[in-house]
Amino acid sequence: MLPSHDVTPPDERLDPADFPPRFGYALFHTAAALGQLAALVLLVRWRPPGVGWAALLFVAVGLGQYRLYFPLHDASHGKLFPRRITNRRLGRVVAALLFTTYPSFVAIHLEHHRRWGERDDPGAVDYSGIAASSSASSCGRSLA
Ligand SMILES: [Zn+2]
Repeated sequence: MLPSHDVTPPDERLDPADFPPRFGYALFHTAAALGQLAALVLLVRWRPPGVGWAALLFVAVGLGQYRLYFPLHDASHGKLFPRRITNRRLGRVVAALLFTTYPSFVAIHLEHHRRWGERDDPGAVDYSGIAASSSASSCGRSLA
């Protein structure tokens, strides 16, 4: 059962104002994630023969895609790069690499923040089996 309200003590809640977008930080983390995924995809062509290597690369590419979720998430909130247009452009590229579209990701993700902890939260499947931790709820709500 999820709490229907933010149970984080007020003095432990994150304030988005404490995390202003920084271009260099955003560029480094986005480029690192994109570079990692590109390197892994290139390795697919030159991997040693055998199912074991293929399985290892399959998992590694999946983890590389998972790492791209974080820049996409921050861009969807307009909190990755300082300029909105940069967030949108980067978000479109990253979303495409994750086999979705940026507008649909933004719509569903912001709905997730609006309905966090409710049965019709589109992201509930990601956390409903986990006891709702106060820090997770605080982060989600304060960045919405
Ligand atoms: Zn979010």
